[in-house]
Amino acid sequence: MSAQILDGRALAQELRAEAAAQIAELRARIDRAPTIAVVQVGDDPAATRYVRSIDRLCQSLGAACWAIALPANTEQADLEATVSSLSADDRVDGILLQLPLPAGLSLDGVLHRLVPEKDLDGIHPINAGLLAQGRPALTPNTPAGGMELLRRYGIEVRGKRAAVVGRSAIVGRPMALLLLQADATVTICHSRTPDLGAVLRECDIIAAAAGRPGLITAEMIKPGATVIDFGTNVLADGSMVGDVDYAGAVEVAGAITPVPGGTGPVTNVMLMQNLIKATRTRLGI
Ligand code: NDP
Repeated sequence: MSAQILDGRALAQELRAEAAAQIAELRARIDRAPTIAVVQVGDDPAATRYVRSIDRLCQSLGAACWAIALPANTEQADLEATVSSLSADDRVDGILLQLPLPAGLSLDGVLHRLVPEKDLDGIHPINAGLLAQGRPALTPNTPAGGMELLRRYGIEVRGKRAAVVGRSAIVGRPMALLLLQADATVTICHSRTPDLGAVLRECDIIAAAAGRPGLITAEMIKPGATVIDFGTNVLADGSMVGDVDYAGAVEVAGAITPVPGGTGPVTNVMLMQNLIKATRTRLGI
């Protein structure tokens, strides 16, 4: 049996159309475009490409994007002053900080200047804490996208056994908390988990966020399980693969996200959902 493909590109298109309609409604109510400020320190080409893609996405949906480029030798105090001033600026609805910061700059110091209500990446400890308590929060976009794929494809989470492979603050850990919030029984696996296959074979849902190509093989997957692959690993030949051995897994799983074309395309659109949520919450509308 071949698994159902959870098509992230198709879902992203649907979500973009919904976001455009919600942003048009917001524009009419607040008399300006909902606005994201993206702060980039240094000129890492991947970060620059990402900022451009956010800018294009904002333009296509009717939102505004301020790209704030600071030189690589920016002092901690200047970066913190920039984030403070964006936090206080009523024209800015959400803030994104390109990570990692160049060596010598402290993220903790910057997070103290970021108001949690504008934290579109869901990285502020207040948002992480709210999520951990099962309360409404701005959540990181990648796991939020994984949950949206499950929801939109009608995959039952309540009462299911789920495993998340990876425990980073931005993908694995929040994914586990979101699955828990959706009433799954969740196991978090990491590099010290002794027999990964034994854990995964018991699970109806597997979310992979390890950054290890081919880590999860077909024999680790319970027949019919749903597999959400967040891994984005670029191989020596330039091709991109996930953490799951897709060719084998697709024959065993009940549903699976391809890489590329699965979780990746949904991530950026979830950012726009966070922008909409942040704007509404902050302005009380
Ligand atoms: P990190 O490197 O921060 O975390 C990786 C996690 O995987 C760690 O918790 C680590 O365990 C665990 N891990 C590593 N090796 C193994 C192993 N052999 N067995 C079990 N667990 C293991 O990565 P990120 O969370 O930032 O990213 C994870 C993946 O998701 C990457 O491929 C990244 O490119 C991708 N990603 C995808 C996005 C998308 O939109 N699809 C967006 C962001 C990231 P330990 O804690 O013990 O070290």
